[in-house]
Amino acid sequence: MAATIIDGKEFAARVRAQVATHVTHLKAEHGITPGLAVVLVGEDPASQVYVRSKGKMTVEVGMKSVEHKLDVETPEAELLALIDQLNNDPEIHGILVQLPLPKHLNEDLVINSIDPAKDVDGFHISNVGLLGTGQKSMVPCTPLGCLMMLRDHHGSISGMNAVVIGRSNIVGKPMAQLLLNDSATVTIAHSRTKDLADVVRRADIVVAAVGRPEMVPGDWIKPGATVIDVGINRLDAPEKGEGKTKLVGDVHYDSCAAVAGAITPVPGGVGPMTIACLLANTVTACCRANGLAEPEGLTA
Ligand code: NAD
Repeated sequence: MAATIIDGKEFAARVRAQVATHVTHLKAEHGITPGLAVVLVGEDPASQVYVRSKGKMTVEVGMKSVEHKLDVETPEAELLALIDQLNNDPEIHGILVQLPLPKHLNEDLVINSIDPAKDVDGFHISNVGLLGTGQKSMVPCTPLGCLMMLRDHHGSISGMNAVVIGRSNIVGKPMAQLLLNDSATVTIAHSRTKDLADVVRRADIVVAAVGRPEMVPGDWIKPGATVIDVGINRLDAPEKGEGKTKLVGDVHYDSCAAVAGAITPVPGGVGPMTIACLLANTVTACCRANGLAEPEGLTA
């Protein structure tokens, strides 16, 4: 039987609608407008695209969007001063510093200077620790989006065997933590894992976050398993015309879809969920800052 396609685009639109409803409520009942500040240092073209679409969607759900674009040579002290100013701004509930930063800036220092309560990317060491100990935290957006899709599809993932391929701080590790907090039995595979095919074949849930185009073939997938493809890889696509490119994930879609029970496509799977979860985190941070009830279903 063909796999169910988990439609991230449609799911993300639902999440954004939920966020928008809550923003309307916060404005009408409490006179509060959630605010998100995005800081971009330098002119990396991909980062500029991300920042633009984050700003656009923030406004679309009714929140306040503030963008700070800094010169590529901005001294660290200047960036830290801006973050301090945003930490102390009562109209700003979420702060995101677009990564990667130029090489002269210490990424850990910068991220850890954000007020953890406003750290809507969930990368601050305090949030990492809170997540690791199963406490309320700000959760990294991409893994949060994956978790929402898994909960929606399965109801409960308790007791399921989950394999996360990739151990990065922004996707692999927090993903594994979230799956563990939901009582899955979790294996983290990485570049040194022996017999990766064998490890993946035991999984009821596979989350691929590697950054290698189509590296997981269908014959690694246990029949009926759920496959969440986090990878975004741009490949040349001469078949579409000269100079054209296409996006593919970390799993080989056609062969995996033939065996899996459910699968996320690329594009249109995990990608759209990431920005939706950033908006969800901002509204959650705003509610927490004001001692108000958080919207249901938008946090881990
Ligand atoms: P990363 O480069 O930081 O980490 C990749 C991980 O893959 C590493 O832990 C490494 O050990 C592992 N790895 C590398 N080669 C491997 C191999 N042959 N076998 C098994 N494991 C191997 O990458 P990242 O930031 O975690 O991102 C992973 C992918 O997810 C990228 O394609 C990235 O573009 C994508 N991504 C997508 C979103 C989204 O919104 N959909 C967000 C973040 C990242």
